[in-house]
Amino acid sequence: MELRDLPSVDELASEAGDPLAVDAARVVIDRAREEIQAGADPGDLAARLREELADARRPRLQRVLNATGVVVHTNLGRAPLAEEAVERVAEAARGYSNLEYDLVEGARGSRQDHVAAILRRLTSGEAALVVNNNAAAVLLALAALAEGREVVVSRGELIEIGDGFRIPDVLARSGARLVEIGTTNRTRAADYERAIGPETAVILRVHQSNFRVVGFEERPRLEEVAAVARKHGLPVVDDLGSGHVSPSNTVLLGQKEPTARESLAAGADLVCFSGDKLLGGPQAGIVLGRAELVERLRRHPLQRALRIDKLSLAALEGTLLLHLETPERIPVLRTLGQATTAVRERAERLAAATGGEVEETVGRVGGGALPLAELPSFACALEESLAAPLRAGEPPVVGVVRDGRLLLDCLTLTDEEAEEAAGLVAVAREHRRDEHGEDGNPGQGRADARS
Ligand SMILES: *Cc1c(COP(=O)(O)O)cnc(C)c1O
Repeated sequence: MELRDLPSVDELASEAGDPLAVDAARVVIDRAREEIQAGADPGDLAARLREELADARRPRLQRVLNATGVVVHTNLGRAPLAEEAVERVAEAARGYSNLEYDLVEGARGSRQDHVAAILRRLTSGEAALVVNNNAAAVLLALAALAEGREVVVSRGELIEIGDGFRIPDVLARSGARLVEIGTTNRTRAADYERAIGPETAVILRVHQSNFRVVGFEERPRLEEVAAVARKHGLPVVDDLGSGHVSPSNTVLLGQKEPTARESLAAGADLVCFSGDKLLGGPQAGIVLGRAELVERLRRHPLQRALRIDKLSLAALEGTLLLHLETPERIPVLRTLGQATTAVRERAERLAAATGGEVEETVGRVGGGALPLAELPSFACALEESLAAPLRAGEPPVVGVVRDGRLLLDCLTLTDEEAEEAAGLVAVAREHRRDEHGEDGNPGQGRADARS
């Protein structure tokens, strides 16, 4: 085909009789022009238009198979929900609900009431408030308790969580003023004591989440910080980051990640943490602690802007109910709790089905929790050239490229997903063959590779 043989956008589009056809035809013709200029044959334009139209209607937010070995992977949507939580979401989504309606009184109620009692039971907190995410919880706590006044934070805790969420920036947005104390590696209780003045409103503790200072390092225990705060009549707000409510996690990982209950018992007046990290629920920010402080957050004008939506609330309630009785049904906890032999067997099955090799790997919790925890794991190692076609699969499979090979880590795949992945590897090899096929038609593979 020569450039002059290309139909016009309108000519190509008119054959399809589809409202999206003009945009799709433009894409197809532009691409065909490039290919002709590169000396290739663009092939059947009508067929490519049909593919383009199908692609335009394909949902962009889609399920993927997480073969990265990172359990709480922020880029891959963090925590998968338990089946029970998904059912709660579907029910709340399908019809009306008593979201803010008190069925006993027949009058307006609060969306917060649905999860407050169970959160209190799980953590011994006096009162609870749930917002859109933990970043919102920190912002709201500082705005409500420290606007126009000072917040004392250790330099060792002025962290960036990822995607530019930095504690000093959040603090500035809340209208509070940051007072930094100590150094990156050492902060003592006396540093807090010295920084407190008439303008001090809050002492903020931030979980170091995604990093650790090792070596010449010192941080006062929460009990000591709380003692200083009490002496001056100040509240301690403890941002736990991931946080969690099940003591079983600590056992599972053999490493310390503070629970909300422990932080409150150690003297924090408010704790906040994420709903979709180790808790294993939906995106949410959970605030727990002294009723009088929680009430100040609830009444702050920002609360309305940061509130949790009903679908997340339904998922959160479903997840919290499982924490009470059957936490092993929560996918994040199940993944963390599985036996390494089960992971190895899964990797062996996947390797046998795909002609790959079993390789020992190290999984991570992710989501800023337990950055040093190394989860023993096994992967199926395949040729690196499969990485891109697997990402274009239906569903996409996301693995890790290392040392010229693609590792499909089986820690974060269920047995069913590993089986599904084996089928997707076969499809990806087919595609790769098409793309580098002997027909010398590079356009073919490109047309169905989704960008
Ligand atoms: C993850 C994290 C946050 C942010 O939580 P989101 O739920 O992602 O908004 C805040 N503080 C700490 C310490 C964290 O680890």
